[in-house]
Amino acid sequence: MSFVLAERVTRLKASASIEAQEKVVRLAAAGIKVVDFTIGEPCIDTAPHIVAAAIEAMKAGDTHYTPAWGKPALRQAISRKLERDNHLQYGIDRIVVGCGAKQLIFEAFAATLSEQDEVIIPAPHWVSYPEIVRLNGGKPILVECGENVGFKLRGDGLEKAITPRTRWLVLNSPNNPSGAVYSRDEMGEIARVLARHPHVGVMVDEIYEYLTFDGNVSLNPVQVDPSLASRTLLVNGMSKGYAMTGWRIGYAAGPAALIAAIAKLLGQSTSCASSISQTAAIAALDGDQTHVRQAVRDYEQKRDRMMALLGQAPGLRLTKPEGAFYLYPSVAGLIGRRTPAGKILETDTDVAMYLLDHGVAVLDGTPYGLSPYLRLSFANSLEAIEEGCLRIVEACKRLH
Ligand code: PMP
Repeated sequence: MSFVLAERVTRLKASASIEAQEKVVRLAAAGIKVVDFTIGEPCIDTAPHIVAAAIEAMKAGDTHYTPAWGKPALRQAISRKLERDNHLQYGIDRIVVGCGAKQLIFEAFAATLSEQDEVIIPAPHWVSYPEIVRLNGGKPILVECGENVGFKLRGDGLEKAITPRTRWLVLNSPNNPSGAVYSRDEMGEIARVLARHPHVGVMVDEIYEYLTFDGNVSLNPVQVDPSLASRTLLVNGMSKGYAMTGWRIGYAAGPAALIAAIAKLLGQSTSCASSISQTAAIAALDGDQTHVRQAVRDYEQKRDRMMALLGQAPGLRLTKPEGAFYLYPSVAGLIGRRTPAGKILETDTDVAMYLLDHGVAVLDGTPYGLSPYLRLSFANSLEAIEEGCLRIVEACKRLH
């Protein structure tokens, strides 16, 4: 017998980055060395003091279920973090912990969306938002934000997209894939439009909060307009800044009733995030932060190196990312060009496949909602960056 799959699953797109990584693994198994620029996670390991806290937790029998909301001690550490870094006061009744930011985004939509409710998503966007919205019965409304506006949503774009059915605006700053970071003025412009539309909630994905360059700082709309707190959900986690992707700890802070609804869903799905990872997260949030700052300096150097090398590639147009660890160059200059094998490059997907033939794996812009672009991660070794960029430059030079 074969199972009949639910329609919502057959309609679901598989995660593009996970698929690309599987392809790289298959090529590596066949003996083909590919430089992998598709990676969406830090290239460093979790700091030793965080690992030590987890080992201690296991030895001490900290190996049981925790409250569905997360341990009170972790929620207190998150509350301190919000006060220290963002100057925001959130009591622990307004904070919930889940298995990664992704789960909290999922449960927040599950808790609030009814059939055909609209969610405004500025594009380019993290690949998962539209799929998670659809899975929960909602309708993603993409607003294209090109290089000309620094890949950022402007007030007029937002104003045009809002309808009576709008439930949420999703803001992701620093942004995956563009690296855009909203300034205080830009966030203020968004906040002013939101003030005119009190039925619109704001989901702010701050997972790359700590990863900003050139003196840019990550700001959320509540910091710019405190009156938005009653309809804003701040989503964050340990994955990127603390290099803890595999530990699966994320958190959300927002209005008490929404946080309670999310916790109720967590209680009926995962029960709780790993007790061991939660204790490690406390050590990360309360502990020494020098390793985070060092990682940011390292990413900034790698960004600069990648920008300099790819500046030599004819047909690529680069925008300097202000945060996160991705470059999102336009490949409009390569579209319509002919490969040595005689194929015309028609889409960014064609460009990505062509580069894979030259031993470099990159992601095409299509699943990120804005084409023709590529996403390249600089969370990689300097050697890989040097080698991969040389291959890209060569590949671009070979086009007619
Ligand atoms: N939001 C964005 C923009 C991301 O890039 C990612 C991870 N790729 C996530 C959320 C999910 O993070 P977590 O590991 O905390 O689930």
